[in-house]
Amino acid sequence: MAKIGFLGLGEMGTPMAGRLLQAGHDVVVWNRSAERTAVLAKEGAAVAAAPAKAAAGRDFVITMLATPEALEQVLFRTGGLAPALSPGQVLIDMSTVGPDEVRSATARLPKGASLVDAPVRGSVPQATSGRLDIFVGATDENYERVRPILETLGSVRHTGGPGSGAAMKLVANLALGAAIVTLGEALSLGESLELKRDILLDVLADSPIGPIVKAKRANVESGQFTPSFKLRHAAKDLRLVTETATARGRDLKQAQANRAWLDEAAEHGAADLDFSAVVATIVGEQRK
Ligand code: NAP
Repeated sequence: MAKIGFLGLGEMGTPMAGRLLQAGHDVVVWNRSAERTAVLAKEGAAVAAAPAKAAAGRDFVITMLATPEALEQVLFRTGGLAPALSPGQVLIDMSTVGPDEVRSATARLPKGASLVDAPVRGSVPQATSGRLDIFVGATDENYERVRPILETLGSVRHTGGPGSGAAMKLVANLALGAAIVTLGEALSLGESLELKRDILLDVLADSPIGPIVKAKRANVESGQFTPSFKLRHAAKDLRLVTETATARGRDLKQAQANRAWLDEAAEHGAADLDFSAVVATIVGEQRK
């Protein structure tokens, strides 16, 4: 069993750290809002007072934070994690931060410490039941080191060298953003043509966006968007998608349009709802 530090106990981090504890690992947790550590402390985790303290004596340190900016703060501000890492320790970042942040952070780690990017696909139910899809960017040697830990959390895919997991996650979330916006626009068109919503949803469930229709139909029909994957994170992901593509000379017109819809929904109060709330914005409906 490994000694693991786990930083970031949000919607995803809490069940993920819980699974590592249940598997018998020795886990120390840290979270910016300290009250969120209580649940895991009850389950047997030790609680660190600062990011740097969560690294002491650990084989692996996992971060599951909101944004690239959050990762920067946890790693490099006063009391931060990065200077506390020692040779041989592996930092596994599972947040969605994009490959540019991964490369930039890696370049500033102490000599001998390494960073493996391992962002995830799947949401809270998959995090709770250990069925996440994990995209791992790592050298072959580091991949073999982290694989047994990550297998507790889901199925693990070695996407290539360092940075490739973060890159693959952007590709996956480009597709997710496109699917949810397409659902909203398909309903918008259909309702403008006086088609009934339940029949529209039945037909769309058998279309290429079927999986997202099945996953989010209950939210759309009830008008209730309890967050599983917050809309602010989906908007952040499409920001990363479009900025990363632009920096490489790629013109992703559809991703830009999808980003605009998510930004509009966030500006109209949906940032902390589930990302499927963008459908209500597109069809011009009040949320409950
Ligand atoms: P969340 O519930 O919003 O939790 C975010 C975590 O980041 C919290 O622990 C929060 O601390 C911390 N944080 C935010 N800003 C910070 C800062 N400036 N300094 C230190 N800590 C900070 O997010 P989540 O749903 O768990 O998602 C985590 C990551 O996984 C994101 O990158 C997201 O895009 C990705 N992801 C999410 C899902 C999903 O379905 N939810 C699925 C796949 C990937 P506080 O508790 O103090 O706010």
